[in-house]
Amino acid sequence: MLGAGDSDELVSAIEALAAERKIRLPPIDPFPEQQAIYERYLLSMGLDPKDVDQIADLQRVPEQNRAMIRAALLQGILSMDKMADDELRTFLMLVRTSSTEHRASSLLRIISQPLLTICADEIASSEMSIAIGVMPMRWFNGQSTPYSGSAMCLASMGSLDLIEIFCVLFMARLKDPQYALVQMREAVEIYVNTGSVKPAEFELAQGLHDFSDYKGKNGVAVGMTTAAEQFLVAHELGHVSLRHLSDATLGATPCRELLSEPSLLSRMPWRATAKKHTAIQVIQPSHSDEYCADQWAFHTMLRASTLPDEEGKEPLYCAGATIFLGLAMIIESASRAKGIMIPDTHPSALNRLYLIQLATELHGFHEEAYIARRVCEFIEEIGACYPDFAMPPILSRDLNQVALEVFRKMGYSLDGATYITDFV
Ligand SMILES: [Zn+2]
Repeated sequence: MLGAGDSDELVSAIEALAAERKIRLPPIDPFPEQQAIYERYLLSMGLDPKDVDQIADLQRVPEQNRAMIRAALLQGILSMDKMADDELRTFLMLVRTSSTEHRASSLLRIISQPLLTICADEIASSEMSIAIGVMPMRWFNGQSTPYSGSAMCLASMGSLDLIEIFCVLFMARLKDPQYALVQMREAVEIYVNTGSVKPAEFELAQGLHDFSDYKGKNGVAVGMTTAAEQFLVAHELGHVSLRHLSDATLGATPCRELLSEPSLLSRMPWRATAKKHTAIQVIQPSHSDEYCADQWAFHTMLRASTLPDEEGKEPLYCAGATIFLGLAMIIESASRAKGIMIPDTHPSALNRLYLIQLATELHGFHEEAYIARRVCEFIEEIGACYPDFAMPPILSRDLNQVALEVFRKMGYSLDGATYITDFV
């Protein structure tokens, strides 16, 4: 890392360059006020923010490769005047991320910005201030919980890693389908066997995927990762906006019991300081509320895809829910195959994805869902090794009944949606 002073100078230089080309860079943390609430919440849990909310610098990159990456960045700086505006914008953001102290929670808030922009009024009317942040758990899920008048929307670090692994392998699959399949199944197996997602490793897909291709395939991989993480956050925001947070019963999610051996707790940075916390308080919504939070999240993402800065990203926004729920489907099947029960209050991921697919048609986004369909192909291939794995059915009268109830609750018009209303 550069020294703090150097880093400030570099950030100013990057911002000046962007201004010269009239390129708007997003702020390093668009919602700094959330960080204060989030840190107070962590402290109230007996957790040290410095341990939980780690600096997301070049963590994945081994020391010996960092010099190489800096050289590549320098090379980029020298050829900046040849870059098109959108390419330069991505590049400058990358340089800034790799040269400043980015907290993981502020990265999460950057990707949540379009969501919070599009639903600002709905969130305001819920009378709760939002604080988005990461939790050190290596599970594949998100949580929300009220904390002194604020809604804490928390994503576990494990989810972010598994999503990243999937999206990188999705692109690597174009060159080596077998490699992608084996690596993805291994990541799922490790998670199911240990209760802990393995971190995305630097070696992953090296030679199969061009990580410096900002405009092309890596842009798609990053966009898919962002969209799946956005869906995770948006689902939690849905619980806030739909007032599940003020109405729902709180329940303790036991940290210990969720995990099979070898325990994840032994690797948690805060274990030594937070021994008394074997459970966290989270809301426990009904199945109907979970479906509604999914629908709210999906619809909010479709709306966010129309923001000027997000132009052309509809196929990515459409795919976010499919990536997240598809991974959840695989994890559920893999867990059942091992006889592991996942204590979870959510309906099955297969049912949730079926309703998302219906909503894609209902909102008129069939054409834009082509990345989601390609994601389904990979999901199906990965899941095929588990005996009870299945993709959502083309048509299910039982699930259409669930969908009807959920869509009516959400106030969606079902006029002309005979594929739902005629098949119940
Ligand atoms: Zn939920």
